Amino acid sequence: MGDKVLTVCPYCGSGCQMFLKVEDGQVVGAEPADGRTNEGNLCLKGHYGWDFLNDPQLLTARLRKPMIRKEGVLKEVSWDEAIQFTADKLAEIKEKYGPDAIMGTGSARGPGNEANYVMQKFMRAVIGTNNIDHCARVCHGPSVAGLTYSLGDGAMSNSIPEIEDTDLLLIVGYNAPVTHPIVARRIVKAKQKGATMIVADPRKTELARLADTWLPLKGGTNMALINAFGHVLIEESLYDKEYVSSHVEGFAEYKSGVQKYTPEYAESITGVRAADIRKTMRQYAKSGKAMILYGMGVCQFAQAVDVVKGLASLALLTGNLGRPGVGIGPVRGQNNVQGSCDMGALPNVYPGYQSVTDEKIRKKFEEAWGVPLPDKTGYRLTEVPHLILKENKIKAYYIFGEDPVQSDPNAAELREALDQLELVIVQDIFMNKTALHADVILPATSWGEHDGVYSSADRGFQRIRKAVEPPEFVKPDWQIISELSTAMGYPMAYSNSEEIWDEMRSLCPTFAGASYSKMEALGGVQWPCPSDDHPGTPYLYKGNRFTTPSGKGRLYACEWRAPQEQPDAEYPLTLSTVREVGHYSVRTMTGNCRALSRLSDEPGNIQMNPEDAAALGIRNGQLVRVYSRRGNVAARAQLSDRVKAGATYMTYHFWIGACNELTADDLDPVSKTPEYKYCAIRIEPI
Ligand code: SF4
Repeated sequence: MGDKVLTVCPYCGSGCQMFLKVEDGQVVGAEPADGRTNEGNLCLKGHYGWDFLNDPQLLTARLRKPMIRKEGVLKEVSWDEAIQFTADKLAEIKEKYGPDAIMGTGSARGPGNEANYVMQKFMRAVIGTNNIDHCARVCHGPSVAGLTYSLGDGAMSNSIPEIEDTDLLLIVGYNAPVTHPIVARRIVKAKQKGATMIVADPRKTELARLADTWLPLKGGTNMALINAFGHVLIEESLYDKEYVSSHVEGFAEYKSGVQKYTPEYAESITGVRAADIRKTMRQYAKSGKAMILYGMGVCQFAQAVDVVKGLASLALLTGNLGRPGVGIGPVRGQNNVQGSCDMGALPNVYPGYQSVTDEKIRKKFEEAWGVPLPDKTGYRLTEVPHLILKENKIKAYYIFGEDPVQSDPNAAELREALDQLELVIVQDIFMNKTALHADVILPATSWGEHDGVYSSADRGFQRIRKAVEPPEFVKPDWQIISELSTAMGYPMAYSNSEEIWDEMRSLCPTFAGASYSKMEALGGVQWPCPSDDHPGTPYLYKGNRFTTPSGKGRLYACEWRAPQEQPDAEYPLTLSTVREVGHYSVRTMTGNCRALSRLSDEPGNIQMNPEDAAALGIRNGQLVRVYSRRGNVAARAQLSDRVKAGATYMTYHFWIGACNELTADDLDPVSKTPEYKYCAIRIEPI
């Protein structure tokens, strides 16, 4: 008889609890647990995404020993040599160019919150810079910024289980069946219970097909649509006047900002019928409980922060906040992207969203960590190529649990930038595309091989647990970073993940009561959880007390801006990046799962409208070459009338047909999130 180890699935922010079944020191299966968000269900990634942990054939691809590049070739070395070499190089670069010449990342994937806490502490206390960021920058960075401006907290206001108890779901740019299947299950249950579902998406997605109303807007026109929604709420006096006068500020500016966005004007921009815009807002305002859910179709545009603020304004205008079954939900994609933000793997905040520029807060961390800390905001991840190539400001890059060459836009520029650096450190579990540019590779333990905490998309801290021993020479991320820190003269001597967690809690009022023992007892704890006797917070803004400086919610209407790169005669189509259900992010883990690869390995497709294909003489399944101003890739044409004429879609998971060779690095001016969802391309048959 084997063991069953309770843990959390590592493949999306739904935070499904599951058991790993272990026999003779090997994982032999997975089964769902009765977790808060998943109630005994898992999607295919949860069921089958574990076999890379102990498959002897796949262990050959696993990073198992530290490596250092010597005379151009990566060679295996001892841990002592790897740590000393890396520490000496970092110290030398810091001495020569200053601490801000070094950039580091957190990781929103397997490592967990404790490793992110230690990494940001290393960058701040040991290197002496706030140059720490992670992949939230390329996904829900606009949610953190926009919701903080509007409401105070940059996170889902309500909980995943509440989705099924709302009366109306307004879903914008979010295809839950592919990105969060267990959240999609809640959406379907809401509909079965009688909720109205309205989906705004350029593509006829799985959710759009289920919706009561599908608003097929043109790509890059979210802001015009959201402004028109606000216009209708005011023009038809549908907004909650009492709520607005008591709990909301900025109404006069908002009203004047949305004035020109009549539904007819918005129709001319978005292609959505004015009548449907009016109908949507009448339904939204009149339902007792309405909830907004959104995803990358909102955030991966160069006007994303404005759109997030616009969506929050709709909830504020109608009083759909501060109670169960309402609110606004940026559903975080990666399993621990909420957690990496919570832990301060961001250039502007310490753990617990405490500002690095607030002197009182900085002093608190200086006292706790025993060193002076930098007082200016650090660099953002998406600025790195420019800072290396154009400004010569970064000399070393410590990349931990991310593969930016596969995941970030304009891959050719990033590769060129990495090759200019004096030191690239990659810490991961498998060889990845970024590691090909590394000077040092540090092999880390995987999910299933270490303890810790993940944060689900709805602010839920949950324990992950070690089920099996890691390969012989591999160490937990927090231990590697601690050893590096000690070698650089700042001893870190944590003996387990709980010690790290407790240090973090002692510095973060919002998380102070979320102990391991409380998570064990309750199954998980949603923040805020400020004290030992606090049970956690399923929904924010109870009593309509917002966490903004004024305590009120703030309305924002922003002028619509078209996406930065428009199609032209040379590049007449648009490209948007999407995901597929069987894979996760850049496939570091799922790409090494035999079961998942068998179920859903179809690399390099480009979805396009049959009319566009016919005009180009392209058949379904034909090989094509896709060109943008930045690069080209081969792909297989997949014709679908769910795609509008003029638009195309590619997944970003695969090395073959890697669509980030094509994507543009135009950034949102506030969050610096790239416009992955819109660039100009052309397609030629091969
Ligand atoms: Fe749940 Fe997401 Fe894992 Fe699927 S991938 S089992 S929805 S956490």
